[in-house]
Amino acid sequence: MANCCWRICTALLTAVLTWAMVPTASLATQTQVTVPQVPLEAFSEEGGPVLIDPGHGGIDGGTSVGGILEKDLVLDIGLRLRDVLLKEGCPVVMTRERDEDVSHRYPSPLRSRHARDLRNRVRIARESGAHLFVSIHVNHSSASGPRGAVILHEANDPAGAWLAELAKKQLFGITGRAIVFPNRSLHVLRRAPCPAILVEVGYLSNPTDRQALLDPAYRQRLAEALARAIRAYRITSPVPPERQKKTPIPAFQGMALYGGPKWT
Ligand SMILES: [Zn+2]
Repeated sequence: MANCCWRICTALLTAVLTWAMVPTASLATQTQVTVPQVPLEAFSEEGGPVLIDPGHGGIDGGTSVGGILEKDLVLDIGLRLRDVLLKEGCPVVMTRERDEDVSHRYPSPLRSRHARDLRNRVRIARESGAHLFVSIHVNHSSASGPRGAVILHEANDPAGAWLAELAKKQLFGITGRAIVFPNRSLHVLRRAPCPAILVEVGYLSNPTDRQALLDPAYRQRLAEALARAIRAYRITSPVPPERQKKTPIPAFQGMALYGGPKWT
């Protein structure tokens, strides 16, 4: 997923900078999601696995500042999220559990390593029967001001939007700033066979975020916040009717993912 954060950042720079000027108090009032208390038994094998996708890896370090690499931070958070979910009985699949990209996971005629890497992440989701796709990244801006979490979901995926709102609610309590953006261009969001979000947990370019991300305890809190969002999503399914997709995306047709009796 080389350069994905740069592309996201470029596309959203104006919006994020605008958002960064909004007082924190008003951001808090934007959150309309009520997250209920969740019993541990909400997790079950029946729900299918959650795919955790730590971005980048191996030759692809992602964004970096002063030798701090995105790929290392997101792997650590992903592994922590894995452990939290497994401890609570939630089945989990990882796209990677060490410092590697996944471009060679499956044979492919594609010449682009980046393209193979992205497609393989989606293929892992498809072949594992994942019911949720959570891709974890760290953001970067040319300015040092923007900070906080950015959660992206495919624009035509109401279930992903619902999960994104739940993640925003939880991450806001950790990062102090969290915002959701619909997206129409990211491959893993467009092609994921299930509701998907891409979470930028903070800005490496912001000194406050960077310092926080270097703290293992902070990364643990991020992982636990994401786990709470996933838990909340599972028990609040099916997706509220007003958020259900009206027309399936062609690539998803025949997979009975939208409009089915269960969303878990
Ligand atoms: Zn990234």
